[in-house]
Amino acid sequence: MPRRFEVAHNETSPPGHRDRSWLGSSLTRWFVLGNFLAVAGLIGVAALLLWQMRTDAERRSEANANSLVQVLGRDIARNVELYDLSLQAVIEGFGRTDVAQASPELRQMILFDRAASAPGFAFLLLVDSHGAIVSGSNASVPMGLDRSETEYFRHFIAHPDDADLHISPPAVSQVSGQRMIMLSRRLSNSDGSFAGVVVGGIKIDYLRSLFASVDAERAGTVTLYGPEGLVLMREPYNQSAIGTSVADTPSYRRMTAMRDGSFTGPAMLGEDERRFTFARLGLEPLTLSIAVAPSVIYAEWWHRALGLGMVLLGLCGVTAGLTWLLRRELGRREQAEAELLAANARLATQATTDALTGLGNRWHFDEVLRQEWDRAARCRRPLSLILVDADCFKGFNDTYGHPRGDEALRLIAGSIRAAANRASDMVCRIGGEEFAVILPEIDMAGSELVAERIRAAVMGWAMPHTAGPHAVLTVSCGVASVPEVSAHKAAALVAEADAALYAAKNAGRNRVRAAEPSKAALRLVS
Ligand code: GH3
Ligand code: MG
Ligand code: MG
Repeated sequence: MPRRFEVAHNETSPPGHRDRSWLGSSLTRWFVLGNFLAVAGLIGVAALLLWQMRTDAERRSEANANSLVQVLGRDIARNVELYDLSLQAVIEGFGRTDVAQASPELRQMILFDRAASAPGFAFLLLVDSHGAIVSGSNASVPMGLDRSETEYFRHFIAHPDDADLHISPPAVSQVSGQRMIMLSRRLSNSDGSFAGVVVGGIKIDYLRSLFASVDAERAGTVTLYGPEGLVLMREPYNQSAIGTSVADTPSYRRMTAMRDGSFTGPAMLGEDERRFTFARLGLEPLTLSIAVAPSVIYAEWWHRALGLGMVLLGLCGVTAGLTWLLRRELGRREQAEAELLAANARLATQATTDALTGLGNRWHFDEVLRQEWDRAARCRRPLSLILVDADCFKGFNDTYGHPRGDEALRLIAGSIRAAANRASDMVCRIGGEEFAVILPEIDMAGSELVAERIRAAVMGWAMPHTAGPHAVLTVSCGVASVPEVSAHKAAALVAEADAALYAAKNAGRNRVRAAEPSKAALRLVS
């Protein structure tokens, strides 16, 4: 009785796995890129903000310096004007004959009456054309004291045409013993000849108190320059700087060329850059400036920038940390997914492979035969099937043992694979010692040749098999092929081949038998 083979029509196809690994890694890439862009954007915005804050700090510092120069400058200019008015009052009185004829006490009262009204004004002196003090605003002034060697007296001797206010460098006055800045004007006789000098002393201490109202720590260095770049007063006060000339420094030259305004240039007394804001005071050769070091201008800005930078750094650190953690987590998931896919693929292979021979298993045979049957029917192409069965294999096992039987099965498998070696040929182990070869596009004659090759190859190994009819290991082959046989479906083709195999066994084994071709014309029915 021919054995019955049922071709399993498994509707479930092997688990198809769409490769989605790219999705994970791509997601991670986008995520990291997105975070990077967010952090870069954050840094960009912060940089813009800091730049604006820096510009604001500059503007604020300049506005402060400017208003300070204006206020303090106005004060100083008004005071100097007052002092000058006192000097001019003396000159005016000196020119009047009625004052000249008055008693010394009365003359002193008339000439120096306005001197008292000016704050910080120490005294007023009248020096005659020989340099001797002839009159003074207070009683302590030593009459007759020789002032011919003083800077102001020498100045008016050297410049007989100078009718303007003269400002002398700060010096210790011999009259009061205090540091003073002397303001002086020329006295002329009615014929225009030199009659002497009228001199007023402004106390340096008074100017110091005026400048001290400025918070130099924050506002910068406040300096009052006299003629020829003489430093008359400076806050913070520095005794050694008072009286020095900065006329040759580039910043002072730039200052005198501009009259008022602001610029950044090298410090006049000291190092590094300074932001100068300055103005000329009235008509006098006096200039007031405020010089601020960049470290002062940007001190607060630095403070804020540092704070903001720290916060930003913290945020970036947290973002980077989170990104790293999430990336690691995503990486782990991707790896797990990849491992799962690989395991599934392994399982899928194992599900279709015979462990002993490495050939396709019975399940795989059913699947491939079904597909090839459909294709052959669709394209009206031949399809052949060879069933191969080891002869008297039970006896082989009994004689040589099961492991040697396994070895023999692997030998048969290798022989079949070598004989059916086209890419489209499919060799499967479909039972214990039974094999099947699906040969698409091969007709009966061709498949008989392949079967014969298989049979001859196995016998050719001459593997001893004393329990078999031929003393060596042999196989029997049954061949069936459409359209030669009248199979109307895949299972019928298997049955035809099985019947042929049965015939081969009956005929003495170690042979090839082809299924009987149908008499009627055969048509493939799928
Ligand atoms: P016939 O020539 O009619 O085919 O006789 P036979 O003995 O080959 O057929 P039978 O169906 O009686 O015995 C098949 C034997 O194949 C039984 C079993 O011991 C052996 N066999 C089946 N699977 C394996 C296997 O995986 N390894 C080994 N060593 N033997 C197997
Ligand atoms: Mg068998
Ligand atoms: Mg057998």
